[in-house]
Amino acid sequence: MPKILSEQAHAGIRGLSAYVPGKPIEDLKRELGLSSIIKLASNENPLGTAPAALDALANFGGDLYRYPDGSGFELKHQIAARHGLDAACVTLGNGSDDILELTARVFLGPGKNAVVSQHSFAVYPIVARAVGADVRAVAAFGPGADMPYGHDLEAMRAAIDENTGVVFMANPNNPTGTWVTPEALEAFLDRVPPATLVVLDQAYIEYQTQDAVAAEASWLARYDNLVITRTFSKIFGMAALRFGYGLSSPAVADFLNRIRQPFNVNMIALHCAAAAIDDHDFIARSVASNTGQRARLAEALLERGLRCLPSQANFITFDTRRAARPVYDALLRQGVIVRPLAGYGLPNHLRVTVGQTAENDRFLDALGRVLG
Ligand code: PMP
Repeated sequence: MPKILSEQAHAGIRGLSAYVPGKPIEDLKRELGLSSIIKLASNENPLGTAPAALDALANFGGDLYRYPDGSGFELKHQIAARHGLDAACVTLGNGSDDILELTARVFLGPGKNAVVSQHSFAVYPIVARAVGADVRAVAAFGPGADMPYGHDLEAMRAAIDENTGVVFMANPNNPTGTWVTPEALEAFLDRVPPATLVVLDQAYIEYQTQDAVAAEASWLARYDNLVITRTFSKIFGMAALRFGYGLSSPAVADFLNRIRQPFNVNMIALHCAAAAIDDHDFIARSVASNTGQRARLAEALLERGLRCLPSQANFITFDTRRAARPVYDALLRQGVIVRPLAGYGLPNHLRVTVGQTAENDRFLDALGRVLG
């Protein structure tokens, strides 16, 4: 692109790098000519898609020449009922990334800043910088802490000033898997100024079996500046369909909806999500599988002398005790895709999604071969 044109790009965007997703299986097939590949790199559900969503897809009779319901009336009411909230509290998104971006566009801009923790989700700085805001990445706890590399809420609170438009916080966090207790989170929310929005990203909340938040709907009644985001990409196994949502006060939801693309959630996603939401059996099976395999995987890594970060999510981040990139590359050659974390400030760690037994075994075998 001619320099004269690239200089016209928004200053915040000129300094950005694009989000790097987990390596697709097809890419590795093309590059290395491998036929058998497992991908444990994007925290997808190893049990697949909720059967209720697959049934809905098979029986989908919608008119594809028509626009979807831009208000998502039915699904919005189902979600509201799920959380015991009014439908006016719900914002539907093309994945929860969409909601993260909407919050940045409404509440950030030049002169504002976003507070995040070090080692937290890459989309937060992207959406903040894209609208010209600064990003304050607050040092996380160190490796020796009770919650290694976890959020330091005291320090995050201290980083908030009158220009802080949004605090983005994932709980459990990606890519560390670490978490904060409901008590600590409430104490934090109590001290955040009312003019600063807190976006509590619960993409992995369903996998949390320890210190789980019991009643976040009651938090929404208490904190007008709270937005909770949820996704159907993980526990419902619908990552490809792109559906997530935000929960907030009606006033905040109204702002988000003002700039939401009119038809941001497609008709098939609306239809399948409406079916999946009541697939309690699949959710229970997914949680049970993850809980069991997560413990088993952590134990196996530990047995190999590899320290794991505590995780309440559907992945485990572990210390390779050396530069992780060559380990990642060697695993690729074994047909195993995991996630390198140098871009997250963790160059000696890899993140592996908790798979099913056979996938986890294959990963462990490959890792054993690679590490010798
Ligand atoms: N938040 C976190 C913490 C995530 O890890 C992800 C997925 N990588 C998302 C949000 C976005 O998920 P989606 O857009 O698929 O809902």
